[in-house]
Amino acid sequence: MIKYHPSEQILQSYVQGELCASLSVAVSMHIDMCPQCQRLAHQFETSCAHSFIGEESDPQNEDSWDDLIAQITKDALFDERPAPAPLEIEVKGEQFVLPSSLHNVGLSGWLKLGKLSRSRLDLGDGKLHASLLHIEKGGSVPQHTHKGFELTLLLSGEFKDEMDNYVPGDFIMLDGEHEHSPVATESCLCFTLADDALHFSQGLSQLFNPIGKLIY
Ligand SMILES: [Zn+2]
Repeated sequence: MIKYHPSEQILQSYVQGELCASLSVAVSMHIDMCPQCQRLAHQFETSCAHSFIGEESDPQNEDSWDDLIAQITKDALFDERPAPAPLEIEVKGEQFVLPSSLHNVGLSGWLKLGKLSRSRLDLGDGKLHASLLHIEKGGSVPQHTHKGFELTLLLSGEFKDEMDNYVPGDFIMLDGEHEHSPVATESCLCFTLADDALHFSQGLSQLFNPIGKLIY
């Protein structure tokens, strides 16, 4: 069961269109996987719409509003388009279907280091780096913390760290307060977002720099 969700503040900013592209994509993917946040986002949308059109519309106005919507939606231009075909990727011989939010996002080739593979997502968010990270079963990231923040949205598989076990849909937001060393208990595909390099907290941390560069 999904235990980690975006905060209400993030969901509200998402509904109001205030998030940067990469965070917005992450929240959208989480909402697709999480009935609880689907309901909450729908409530926020409804209250946003109410405050936009005014709470105290009289029934007569509501009728003309319905008429207006009916006129707009009968236009052939608004016919539903078919859903985009699932976009499949292959990493280390495994197939994954990507969430629809990523279907039109550019993906770099895969950089591989041991059991870790990373592909950069082209979301054009400056110093925010968005990536797909694949960790083979048993693969791990040495203990580290973050100078900025690190968001991990688990898309497939399972991993654990000192704090918990995670399942697909978990939206894990960490910062400099957290120190962890994730281990893939099943082969994993994650969406990751970071705004600064990792800081390895074990001895001989320079040995882990290639991993830091791969992940950030
Ligand atoms: Zn949720």
